[in-house]
Amino acid sequence: MFCTGLVAVVRCPAWSRGITRARSALAQLYTVMEAELEGIRGAGTWKSERVITSKQGAHIRVEGSSGAIVNFCANNYLGLSSDPAVIQSGIDALNLYGAGLSSVRFICGTQNLHKDLEAKIAKFHQREDAILYASCFDANAGIFEVLLTPEDAILSDELNHASIIDGVRLCKANKYRYKHLDLSDLEAKLKEAQKHRMRLIVTDGVFSMDGDVAPLKEICDLSDKYNALVFIDECHATGFLGPNGRGTDELLGVMDRVHIVNSTLGKALGGAAGGYTAGPKALVDLLRQRSRPYLFSNTLPPPVVGCASKALDLLMDSNTIAQTMASKTKRFRSQMTAAGFTIGGMDHPICPVMLGDARLASSMAEDMLKRGIYVIGFSYPVVPKGKARIRVQISAAHSDQDIDQCVEAFVDVGRKHGVIS
Ligand code: PLP
Repeated sequence: MFCTGLVAVVRCPAWSRGITRARSALAQLYTVMEAELEGIRGAGTWKSERVITSKQGAHIRVEGSSGAIVNFCANNYLGLSSDPAVIQSGIDALNLYGAGLSSVRFICGTQNLHKDLEAKIAKFHQREDAILYASCFDANAGIFEVLLTPEDAILSDELNHASIIDGVRLCKANKYRYKHLDLSDLEAKLKEAQKHRMRLIVTDGVFSMDGDVAPLKEICDLSDKYNALVFIDECHATGFLGPNGRGTDELLGVMDRVHIVNSTLGKALGGAAGGYTAGPKALVDLLRQRSRPYLFSNTLPPPVVGCASKALDLLMDSNTIAQTMASKTKRFRSQMTAAGFTIGGMDHPICPVMLGDARLASSMAEDMLKRGIYVIGFSYPVVPKGKARIRVQISAAHSDQDIDQCVEAFVDVGRKHGVIS
């Protein structure tokens, strides 16, 4: 038996006192953590994870639910996560190149497969060069501190993704946070930032919680006027926005005016994992030398590279899949609005059904699942307090029937909860 209490500590050998202290540290950890967890439960913002027992796709199987469930909350915008050609390419890469490299890129983690994918990404975005990361979170965390010094300035939209916020925190440049999509505030901050050596404007191309699109043309006009660089995070645009699916910069006609694009392979481009920076060659060269998530984290596994590479081939051959998105999105948005729901954002396939209350969002999502529709309630800290919502995401893989079924379920559930009459 271990010694406990003051008297025992006095009588016990030193090793035993160490164990007693370790136990009390653990007990303290439990007290502190349990209080935090209780706070989250009490606020109604607890995020439980449902277990999927099939491939990702428009129709999935979910533990605890019978039959096929229609999935409306994956970032699987083009349905490529379970595309047979994408899966086969992953299998081929696994067979040819193995499970992984057991190394970072600069030691012995670079295969021709990685170089080919980087070249393909640069070509897709029409930028000089590209560099792969294990995720776009890493790409965002690893770029700003390399690019900017205390002599420079970074101007970031207040609603940028958490990974951009973390990347900005790590960087030593002078920080300016401008109001969401507010060009006058950005201009005021740009004026103030003229005293610094370089200026970088940082924005999501599409904001993931609201589906609103950054006014890139106007941002680029300001960047010309105030001599600033422009960076966009294209996670919710790559592969499907713009006439050729190149992203927000293509949609808004500024591909040659946005300097740096960060994006993910984990959403429309096959949905496995991985992220990248595409931009000027000198920047990519420097990131390979200095970017910490690139230098100190394992190479992207070959099967993941194989899947993304095939997804890009498919998109570069034809973008007919991407073109079906707009009409599907319109179908959902117009039917929901007609039913009396408030849908945030613009014409993007991210369609936030605005509800306000966290508990309402999560209990409506539970009721939707009972009607065969998989959606999730989003609440604080993922979205601001009081702005809870169910974020519906339309995919090219949804049929019109799927969309109508989703709207019907929302109408039933919305009436039950008094959201619509
Ligand atoms: N940026 C945005 C806007 C995102 O929505 C996400 C993912 O949710 C990321 C970055 C991170 O991407 P990844 O999943 O590749 O790390």
